[in-house]
Amino acid sequence: MDRVTALRDQLVAWRRHLHMHPEVGFEEHETAAYIEAELRRMLGLTVTRPTATSVLAVLKGGKPGRTVLLRADIDALPIQEENTFEFRSQRAGVMHACGHDGHTAILLGVARLLSEHPEEVPGEVRMIFQHAEEIGPGGAEELVMATDLMQGVDVVTGLHLNSQLPAGLVVVKPGAFMAAPDTLSLTIKGKGGHGAHPEQAVDPIAVGAQVVTNLQHVVSRHVAALDALVVSITTFQSGTTHNVIPDTAVLQGTVRTFDPELRQRAPGLIERVVKGVCEAHGATYDLKYEFGYRPVINTDWVAAQLKEIALETVGEEHYQDAQPTMGGEDFSAYLEKAPGAYFNVGSGSDPADSRWPHHHPRFTLDEASLETGARMLHAAALRLTVPESGQQA
Ligand SMILES: [Zn+2]
Ligand SMILES: [Zn+2]
Repeated sequence: MDRVTALRDQLVAWRRHLHMHPEVGFEEHETAAYIEAELRRMLGLTVTRPTATSVLAVLKGGKPGRTVLLRADIDALPIQEENTFEFRSQRAGVMHACGHDGHTAILLGVARLLSEHPEEVPGEVRMIFQHAEEIGPGGAEELVMATDLMQGVDVVTGLHLNSQLPAGLVVVKPGAFMAAPDTLSLTIKGKGGHGAHPEQAVDPIAVGAQVVTNLQHVVSRHVAALDALVVSITTFQSGTTHNVIPDTAVLQGTVRTFDPELRQRAPGLIERVVKGVCEAHGATYDLKYEFGYRPVINTDWVAAQLKEIALETVGEEHYQDAQPTMGGEDFSAYLEKAPGAYFNVGSGSDPADSRWPHHHPRFTLDEASLETGARMLHAAALRLTVPESGQQA
């Protein structure tokens, strides 16, 4: 049995403890205390708190070499868990429904493995247990902008478990991997009135419905088919009762892109549709558009090395080149400061409960994925090397 396999029960125990005690972004006080206490039981790590609810462990290796940053996010979501297993969330309305409990357990495992053999480690390994991935502007941005975490970092990596991939499968790709998740909030202002006399009112629900439909036209008719753009209106709130036409309708949605130029162009395209539809029907509007996380664009040489590491550590049968996804991630904040690559490890099994989508009240992990994740990140910590030709190779 190798050292990662020997750690299997511990990985599961960490993950289940975290799963039972979830906390949402910026409130991860117990979570951070637990992580810190576990890290302090390991020898040779310098453990600090860069922010109130994030934890950093630094290991100085026994050999000269580069500085690598490994990242796990630690926050949960405001979701009421519907799983019934014993280690389900003990906190009403809060749940680890994205797998960050798994990410945290994996990085604790890597810290343990590295701390047992510092002589194997070239340079320095920083392990950041990052708060608030799920809440924009995100914990990563705060760590990058307000602390010296990234100072001297040569390369950064991290992983997300993925319930839509078979457990144990590792996927990596160079270049565009995850989209920029921008958001819009739209208030349509009509004129209220009696439900029996719409001719005396300006019905914001009817106008809003047109806006929703026409926004899909932006995607299908104003943007080239191969330029990825998603516009989803995800909330539509208006009205109070059956015989009153309300004054306003409030809509929210998300806009996803990879391409920076299209990302800048999207708000204008959207506003043109909103303005046109509202004007056509005598309504006015207030549109707020917010840019969220940057897209995750993996550095080519880092992705290539991770692929090589995967082929050697998990084997060809457990590796695939990744497909880009329209999901967003604040891992992109680290990539502004250092080369790096983000990758996925499958955590879904058939037939089993672990295929539920992320952010679903029944989401869970096939815990075999913890071992794969730890194996990959441990190997990356030991083997990622900055190419001779410099960081832009
Ligand atoms: Zn999530
Ligand atoms: Zn997540």
